[in-house]
This record gives sequence, C-alpha cells and structure tokens, in this order.
Amino acid sequence: MATIDGLPPLRDVIAAHELSAKKQLGQNFLLDLNLTAKIARLAGDLAGHDVLEVGPGPGGLTRGLLAEGARHVVAVEKDARCLPALAEIAAAYPGRLTVLHGDALEMDLAPHLAAPWKVAANLPYNVGTELLVRWLTPAVWPPQWSSLTLMFQKEVAERIVARPGSKAYGRLALLAQWRCEARIVMSLPPEAFTPAPKVHSAVVHLTALPAPRFEADGAVLNRIVAAGFNQRRKMLRVSLKGVAPGIEAKLEAAGIPPTARAEEIGLEAFCLLARIVAAG
Ligand code: SAM
Repeated sequence: MATIDGLPPLRDVIAAHELSAKKQLGQNFLLDLNLTAKIARLAGDLAGHDVLEVGPGPGGLTRGLLAEGARHVVAVEKDARCLPALAEIAAAYPGRLTVLHGDALEMDLAPHLAAPWKVAANLPYNVGTELLVRWLTPAVWPPQWSSLTLMFQKEVAERIVARPGSKAYGRLALLAQWRCEARIVMSLPPEAFTPAPKVHSAVVHLTALPAPRFEADGAVLNRIVAAGFNQRRKMLRVSLKGVAPGIEAKLEAAGIPPTARAEEIGLEAFCLLARIVAAG
C-alpha cells in the first residue's frame, strides 16, 4: 500500500526491525500515517521551524512532521532497537532528521536546535509530565520553544487545561496557563494505538505567551499554589499558614475570602496574592 512518503507502512517497519512494544518504555505506537500527519498539522506551520520530537519509536509521528514540511526534526529516542528504522527515515529526508539516542530527561537538547523551536511528542505520560513541567519553567521567559504539541492520557490533558472549580484544576493548570495558551486539540480512543492502552488519550497544544498573563514572581507563586493544592480540601487561611506571616490579611487584600479553597481561586487572584506576599 502506498504511504505518504513512499517508505514502508509502519506495521512492516515494526515487523522488519522486530520492535515488539516494551511496557516499561511506555510503548504504544501510532501506526496510521494519516493520523500522525494530522497530529503534525496540529503543531501549526512547520516550514521554517526546527521541531524537537521526544520518543519517536518506529517513526510514525516523525514521518508526519517531515511530510508536513518541518525544516529539521531532532528526534530523541531511548530505545536503541528503534535506531535502524529511524535511520531509514533520515535517509529518505536528507539533512532534515537528526536522531539522538538517549534519555530525554538527561540530555541538554537546546544546542541541537535553532530557536524558537516547536516540540511534538507522544510520550509515556510520566516522562511527558516531567518534561512539560521543565519546559514550562525555564530560567527566562519567553522560552526557546514557541509551541508544545503533546499526547497525554486524557486525565492529564484535562488537568493542563482545567478551569477553577473543576476537580482537575490544580498546579499543572496554573503553571501551564500562567504563561501559555493551552488547549486540547484532539481526543484519541485506545484503539488508535498498538498495543491499545487502557485509557483514552488527548493531544494538548500549548503556545508560549510573550509574557506572563499576570505579573508574579514565579517562585512565590509556585510556593502559594503548591501549599494551597497540597491540602486542597482545607481553607486557604489554614493551608497557606506557613507561606507568609499574616496570611489572612494578605488573602483579604487580594480579594480572596480566607475561608475559600484553592480550587475556587483563579490565576489572576493567585498572581495578585503572590505580589502581595512578595512585597512582605
Ligand atoms: N512517537 C511514537 C508513536 O507515536 O508511535 C512512539 C510513542 S511511544 C508512546 C513512546 C516512545 O518514547 C517510545 O518509543 C519509547 O521508547 C520512548 N521513550 C520512553 N521514555 C523515553 C525517554 N525518557 N527519552 C526518550 N524516549 C523515551
């Protein structure tokens, strides 16, 4: 059967390179190249951009990104068994795919990419969440990336885009929405993957804002949000007691009822509280 790029279908690639999925590496592969091209398009206009792909596996999304016109894809894969399959893709797209072998959590990838780059990945959710938090907390803002297009299990995706008052609302939502526009752009059933995972998945697209939505010191904001949501059932005057002296008056100055719970409070009010706490 003809494919989008003339390379063999992914089932054949997996058979030829004996890439039986390994559970400990979170391997649930996307084998439909039309679907991976669609996910690549969700990353926006790729022409003229470097794209960092973490966890390319047999290369379904990689092929989507290249077919959709990415200038240069840097793909980091931990599983050495995938490297020969990825080398075949690199040969079909001369000069446009660099494959790095290693653990993305332990590598400095910035030197391999021209900023602002885009990120696209279908990762095991624990690795994805850890990397997301790192991408969201660089030393300086705006970051070196312009957008992140990431597959997560649906429950994690919902935590990233959650609004106040919902069960999913917490640290991840506030961290993501403080300096990014975050949206769920695609939902996928388990059968979209081989082997099928137990849960539904979703693609989240995050675009870096040029500046935070509301001014705040990142460390102070993080301290407040962490304390507030670590004891999310408690009133803020209790959960934030250790954050700053006289917290009740500071909450009132920020227009937050001291009896409210963290999950009822929006980003703007948390940022105002962070400014009041930082002012002492
Ligand atoms: N992108 C492919 C796709 O969509 O079919 C593979 C997705 S599979 C869910 C996750 C991939 O991430 C696997 O190939 C796995 O080996 C790789 N991986 C897992 N942990 C990793 C890590 N820490 N660094 C780099 N790659 C990792």
